[in-house]
Amino acid sequence: MMRLLLWGLVIWLAMKYLLPALGRLGASASATPPPPPPAADPGAQETVRCAHCGLFVPKTEALSGGGAFFCSDSHRRAGPR
Ligand SMILES: [Zn+2]
Repeated sequence: MMRLLLWGLVIWLAMKYLLPALGRLGASASATPPPPPPAADPGAQETVRCAHCGLFVPKTEALSGGGAFFCSDSHRRAGPR
């Protein structure tokens, strides 16, 4: 009988402490807003998106080809995806 009570206590404690912790983890993961794109930052230099991988790169460092911008020469050669 004592063992049963002990198990009940263990399960109760697990429910009390583990479930809210799990809930917080889930809530923080879903409630976190996506980071704004670098282009939205005031004062930031103009960025363009790599047509191959979607990476934002400063326009001064981007490579253009075929009417699109790319983050690297290998992606420019690979072409838009
Ligand atoms: Zn790329």
